[in-house]
Amino acid sequence: MRHLLSIDDLERADIERILDRAASFAEVSGREIKKVPTLRGRTVVNLFYEASTRTSSSFELAAKRLSADVVSVRSVGSSVDKGESLKDTVQTLSAYDPAAIVIRSPHVGAAELVARWTTASVVNAGDGKHEHPTQALLDVYTLRQRLGSLDGKSIWIVGDVLHSRVARSNVLAFQRMGARVTVCGPPTLIPRGFESLGCEVAYTLDGLPAADVVYALRMQHERMQEAFVPSLREYAAVYQIDRGRLRPGQLLMHPGPVNRGVELAADVIDSPQATIVAQVEAGVVVRMAVLFELLAGGHAPEVAAAPAPQPAEAAA
Ligand code: ASP
Repeated sequence: MRHLLSIDDLERADIERILDRAASFAEVSGREIKKVPTLRGRTVVNLFYEASTRTSSSFELAAKRLSADVVSVRSVGSSVDKGESLKDTVQTLSAYDPAAIVIRSPHVGAAELVARWTTASVVNAGDGKHEHPTQALLDVYTLRQRLGSLDGKSIWIVGDVLHSRVARSNVLAFQRMGARVTVCGPPTLIPRGFESLGCEVAYTLDGLPAADVVYALRMQHERMQEAFVPSLREYAAVYQIDRGRLRPGQLLMHPGPVNRGVELAADVIDSPQATIVAQVEAGVVVRMAVLFELLAGGHAPEVAAAPAPQPAEAAA
């Protein structure tokens, strides 16, 4: 596999292989020195044209833990601010001969374009409202850890499906792993024809108690040019996941960042049913596994033995 642009690039066996490898990297993350030499001497460029906390920091950490040289470029403060086009920026950064370019852009299809302009492997870290494949992989990883398997599980994705790249990638990935998916939200926030992805569509939370997993989505204000709901208060009254709506035993997921008091009530965000912190933790090992798959795939991970303590440390 050369690029990861969409979950459609992956069969179930590919997802399982990547996530098994991510689990082997979890052992590295537990060490004091969290590094393996796998990508030593190779360069990973992170190119972020849109706001990001979790995705950018975890891709950076993932590449560093694999010992790659990492260059992180954000549109703000770079020559993109001066009007340099995506193509020119990619060609400029390609002069460093990167092994991989990780790209986030507000434009649908940006990662696919970058893949045409460079010889590097390209990872889509979110292209507009289209796809966010590594988010879906880390969510499947988190669920496999909690549930063992997704086969036959019912997953409800609730909220602003229309503007969410997470919704599309996750519907595809959850279904590929054997789950049944229902998307739910106000009709104005569900894209027409979304059922063609194979999921069900609901406009009320009436069926929510039957779900094994409730996956809440953020209201994506930055992509809204008009009002899609009468008010956030009215939206929350009908769709907010709170203690009364989350049944005991259900898992609660959210990709972050959370709008507290809008899609989630404070009492469920910090409850043991929420996997939000586990999802962030999974982000590092899953992205290590994705970089490994693209840049070193086909070989067993070189998980080096933990270094022996230095005499001074041993004496301490
Ligand atoms: N962090 C996710 C994304 O970049 C979800 C969100 O922003 O709501 O799509």
